[in-house]
Amino acid sequence: MNFALLANRAFRVLATGALLTLPGCQAIMRSAISSEVTATLKEIQSPEWMGSQVKGDVELVKLADDLYAYRWAGYRTVFLTTSEGVILFDPINPVAAPGIAKAIASVAPNPQIRYVIYSHHHADHASGASLLPGHPTILAHANAARDIKAWTHDGVATPTEVWEGNEHEVSLGEKSVKLFLLPISHTDGNVVMLIPHRRALYIVDVFPGKKSVTLLGAPFHSYHGDLRALAKVQSLDYDLVIPGHGKIGTKEDVTNYVTFLHDAKAQIAKSVKKLGLGEVFAEVQNPKVGALLFDAYDALQPKYGNWSGYEHHMLSALQWVLVFDSVLSE
Ligand SMILES: [Zn+2]
Repeated sequence: MNFALLANRAFRVLATGALLTLPGCQAIMRSAISSEVTATLKEIQSPEWMGSQVKGDVELVKLADDLYAYRWAGYRTVFLTTSEGVILFDPINPVAAPGIAKAIASVAPNPQIRYVIYSHHHADHASGASLLPGHPTILAHANAARDIKAWTHDGVATPTEVWEGNEHEVSLGEKSVKLFLLPISHTDGNVVMLIPHRRALYIVDVFPGKKSVTLLGAPFHSYHGDLRALAKVQSLDYDLVIPGHGKIGTKEDVTNYVTFLHDAKAQIAKSVKKLGLGEVFAEVQNPKVGALLFDAYDALQPKYGNWSGYEHHMLSALQWVLVFDSVLSE
């Protein structure tokens, strides 16, 4: 690990956090961040990026007689088979979508794809639906549909049906799935899908998978927004959690992730005290701020060091908790 680089980055993030407290700067930062994000999303849906993913790195996992998870590189979607056709959640992207259709055709008693249900508007999960056979209904929450239109993502097919409010049910054949809008966290329009008869939940980009630390940060996630969204996720009734990235787990893994977020915040407070740092953001140049992040990193390692991504993403996660909790409180 390059500690000098990471420490440098820590200061930059903290400096950004300090700037964000000034209203004028906030507007500038927001537009800078949003063009950065747009560029990143464009990059990860380009043929070059998709081609750079390991070819053939796909996996079809049967979770129940009618429920399958399909993994493409680091991405996962889910589909449910019924006597009247298939309900598919995210199509992932134009490279993955034809493989998903093939997988469906190989296992579904009635392989006609009747629904594609978007988890949120981001092109790295929601593009490629137009390449699926059979003209399925493409369903999105109104907030995601609004953002698909506003962001003009390449490759994200326009929803053919939009739902509003906090809950929605989709029935096909003898089965149904329930959709729940989450409080603003990763986006203002993330939806989780509950498959009640299988006690399973599909969730994208809000829970990073079983025992996983992911890259968190502005502008998509807010610490408090994620906690509110995860509280909603915890209130639902299921056993199995199937994330859009990372390892499949159980409801207990979601609880463990919430505990992890609380532990990160509590540890930062402890490290601030230990190092004698009062107003962290008044002293952005104080080298102890970098020491703070490393102190918290080391303190949490015994409990979370075996989680995937700890080494690579934990310092960023701590910066994120610190910035959001101290500067952007809500
Ligand atoms: Zn996303």
